[in-house]
Amino acid sequence: MAGVDMHVHTTASDGIFDAFYLINLAMESGLEGMAISDHDTVAALAPAIAYVKGKNFLLVPAIEISSEWQEREIHILGYGIDHQSSYLHEQLQKLQQEREIRLAKILAKLKEYKVFLDEKKLKAMGKGVIGRAHIARLMVQEGYCRSMSEVFSDWLGREGRAYVVRPKLSPEKAIAVVQQAGGVAVMAHPGIAKADRYIPKMVEMGLGGLEINHPNHNLEDIVHYEKLADKYGIYKTGGSDCHGDRLGIITTPIETVKAILQNKNV
Ligand SMILES: [Zn+2]
Ligand SMILES: [Zn+2]
Repeated sequence: MAGVDMHVHTTASDGIFDAFYLINLAMESGLEGMAISDHDTVAALAPAIAYVKGKNFLLVPAIEISSEWQEREIHILGYGIDHQSSYLHEQLQKLQQEREIRLAKILAKLKEYKVFLDEKKLKAMGKGVIGRAHIARLMVQEGYCRSMSEVFSDWLGREGRAYVVRPKLSPEKAIAVVQQAGGVAVMAHPGIAKADRYIPKMVEMGLGGLEINHPNHNLEDIVHYEKLADKYGIYKTGGSDCHGDRLGIITTPIETVKAILQNKNV
């Protein structure tokens, strides 16, 4: 399995495995590299970068920033970011505070419906950002729901009883944050976002690529976004969006990754 998995989550956000475990697993399965792209945090990057030193493995410092446009969730991947950028840290800290406020609101709503979740248990599920995925996992664990999808449809999704509007960042701001931190902004899973109309505008804002290959994309999506990326002359990437069990099922050729990291055309 060659190539670089350009979309991997660790326990710093809502992944199940930590960076060290994932790096070892990736190396064992013959991957040439991997991008750690946690939701709105770079906490896993410094230890991961230190860990791969001296190993023949390309660790791409990355992030996946959540933003919203017309009620559509748009995730912006930032590749090759400087994880020590103080501007980046400031912005992420602000987001984190807003997320914590949201989490408290969700838990309060759940309580109104007699769903009691232990905050300590919740905090123990992720080292950094606690999000809806953690709440959902705990609700299944504690027997409130049978599946994650049930949690989202009945409780945490837009139509759910404990839905709380999430703190919104505009895609423009997300792209700018990535660029300010020295990275290349790539739109994650455009097939899920369903915001094609907005892509030309984002390219104007500095969007540097589309994640054309993602587990939730069908062949049609892949062909469609490949064409779009070619039309705008931006990068085409792919990754597994691994939160636990699908590391390396989708990869990007290492040449493309190197070009992105040098921010030049392929
Ligand atoms: Zn995403
Ligand atoms: Zn993701």
